[in-house]
Amino acid sequence: MTDIQANIDPHEIGKFEELAHRWWDKDGEFQPLHEINPLRLHFIGMHAGALEGKKVLDVGCGGGILSEAMAARGAEVTGIDMGEAPLQVAKLHGLESGVKVDYRRITAEALAEEHPASFDIVTCMEMLEHVPHPESVVSACARLVKPDGNVFFSTLNRTPKSFLLAIVGAEYLLRMLPRGTHEYRRFIRPSELDEAIRAAGLETAHISGMSYNPLSREYQLSNDVSANYLVHAIPA
Ligand code: SAH
Repeated sequence: MTDIQANIDPHEIGKFEELAHRWWDKDGEFQPLHEINPLRLHFIGMHAGALEGKKVLDVGCGGGILSEAMAARGAEVTGIDMGEAPLQVAKLHGLESGVKVDYRRITAEALAEEHPASFDIVTCMEMLEHVPHPESVVSACARLVKPDGNVFFSTLNRTPKSFLLAIVGAEYLLRMLPRGTHEYRRFIRPSELDEAIRAAGLETAHISGMSYNPLSREYQLSNDVSANYLVHAIPA
């Protein structure tokens, strides 16, 4: 895509700008991100090995929940986002925690022009469902990763179950998230993500569901990809 500005939805970014001050409140709107974080780290470790010493890029890093966790495990992490407030929150939190992450306000598409084939690991979690052209971000991630590197995506499947859980449940019944946080039509089926992955010159190596157990109130990795799911992709 030549006009990279075209792949940003200011309305979507605005939602995160407004909530940014709550990012690290584990009982707040971003609670689900805190809860799935150990699973994401586990999935990354399972398929890319130890993070120690790896050069990692976190695309759409927000307030830095995943970026910091990866840096705390010894990775050299760059976190990029187009939201001003989330990046400010991420930087401040890093000062408090003492965990070093290099945060930048830049799109994945623009960074891919600057630093192609530069990262051992590229992560892009819970972000694709907020951009107008997710396939453009997938393609940028493919250009950013080293030829022997690993790329990780997570997003929400477009199924009746994800509609019930992520929108009716989280936004209307439990009111964990403000209404309008997620738009159903933006959810991405694994087959669609796989198509974008192939078109970008990557291939899907692993896919895993992240299922919520309402009784234990915990997420776990599972074979059920009907709502939240994680994908590991490698250069084809
Ligand atoms: N990846 C983080 C945050 C997910 S929230 C985590 O899972 O913990 C989604 C983030 O994507 C928000 O911070 C939002 O500002 C960012 N975002 C949305 N569109 C973007 C774009 N086009 N480029 C970069 N970041 C974007």
